[in-house]
Amino acid sequence: ASLADLDTTVPGAHRVQDRTQAASPAATDHFENTPDTDPAVAANRGWGREILAKSETSALGQATVDASVIATEGELDTVIDSTVAAGTSWGTMSGAERAAILHRAGDALEARRADLMEVSAAETGKTLDQSDPEISEAIDFAHYYAELAKELDDVDGATYAPVKLTVVVPPWNFPVAIPAGSTLAALAAGSPVIIKPSRQARRSGAVMVEALWEAGVPRDVLSFVQLADNALGERMISHPSVERVILTGGYETAELFRSFRKDLPLLAETSGKNAIIVTPSADLDLAVKDVVASAFGHAGQKCSAASLVVLVGSVATSQRFRNQLLDAVSSLAVGYPADATTQMGPIIEPARGKLKNALTSIESGQTWLIEPRQLDDSGKLWSPGVRDGVQRGSEYHRVEYFGPILGIMTAKTLDEAIAIVNDIDYGLTSGLHSLDAGEINQWLTHIEAGNLYVNRGTTGAIVQRQPFGGWKKSAVGAGTKAGGPNYLIGLGTWTPAEARI
Ligand code: GLU
Repeated sequence: ASLADLDTTVPGAHRVQDRTQAASPAATDHFENTPDTDPAVAANRGWGREILAKSETSALGQATVDASVIATEGELDTVIDSTVAAGTSWGTMSGAERAAILHRAGDALEARRADLMEVSAAETGKTLDQSDPEISEAIDFAHYYAELAKELDDVDGATYAPVKLTVVVPPWNFPVAIPAGSTLAALAAGSPVIIKPSRQARRSGAVMVEALWEAGVPRDVLSFVQLADNALGERMISHPSVERVILTGGYETAELFRSFRKDLPLLAETSGKNAIIVTPSADLDLAVKDVVASAFGHAGQKCSAASLVVLVGSVATSQRFRNQLLDAVSSLAVGYPADATTQMGPIIEPARGKLKNALTSIESGQTWLIEPRQLDDSGKLWSPGVRDGVQRGSEYHRVEYFGPILGIMTAKTLDEAIAIVNDIDYGLTSGLHSLDAGEINQWLTHIEAGNLYVNRGTTGAIVQRQPFGGWKKSAVGAGTKAGGPNYLIGLGTWTPAEARI
């Protein structure tokens, strides 16, 4: 296939709608990418403002959170046992029966889109343009994995068995799509689930889980828990009934989980230190736009965010790209999501540790093209930073900071730029801006990352189109890519082990 053969239409664009009109009961029974909310529809802007106004005092999900606290080992063991027991009938249903419930779950998530955006803004500071596609992604996961569940009906019952119990441990930065995707995949595969949402995003997780319960996922098959202390977390992960753990989080967390239990059946998507290479053949205007969105969307708090841009040849030696970047970055409106003009929201936790260091200090040889500033006393609001002169082997080259900072590196050739990027231990996403087919092929052949994006930003993978998963230290365990055709394979057991759909 050549680039010209690719379908570049916006998924679901033909279904763009007015969100203030109640969606007709969808009763979806197939997969199609869900459209994001179109702000060009005037009613949708009012709809969005209402969500933001409500987010300031939102208590959505709190009741579910309050009801789910586990304080003792005995309570935890009881939840594990009852979830496993309830899972037996879930696992013996046909894939088609589970698919019907998961399709309803997708429709229920759509029906609660506004609630999910409200609680996400309240808890994690997400601006609407960041949370809306995340809800679409969660809905996509429901319908997509439902269709994969149907395929399991073609597999002999002696060959495939669901795992006894899956534990889902999601992060706070995608407080809806990631917990939803992991949970829906395990449910599709026939496994019951215990989900422990991130401390910073538990109400978002609760509203997502409520939607799944409303759709008919039995409450005892999907258990939502808050653990009163870390020791309970270790006990849960180490419990012999837990046959899969789906983690999305830092590399260190994956290592910690593995230290709890030898042979831990872990599927983990971990850290990233992602770069976009810009060659002299690139459309520089497009490159600036994509670099800014990839680096500063959600204040850089995405595993997929670009934290490096590598300028090649004349792009590096001339000032044009830097000047345009400087203009674009310094024009970003930083604030809280309740203010509809905000383009870059807060850092979820007050900046500390290595992120604080990266915002406030610079290594020798580097200079600030734009120096970040702390904008209020909370420590959460920072203007974006761009540092120039990042050298290969420097700390900034290798470390993930998970915040609103971008570093500029330079290379004489594309070969050198690829070597600079491959020098990083992680390999989650990677970007190239080039209009030269030879360069694109060279990059696609040699770059070491799970998700490769040409003339597009590095964030916002779309279910089915860009299955999402890392390489090198960005993936730990045996997982395949989320939102891709093989994801359920790793969530069941196969006899013999080589038998795979
Ligand atoms: N799937 C998300 C994206 O493509 C990133 C998920 C993450 O940050 O863990 O932007």
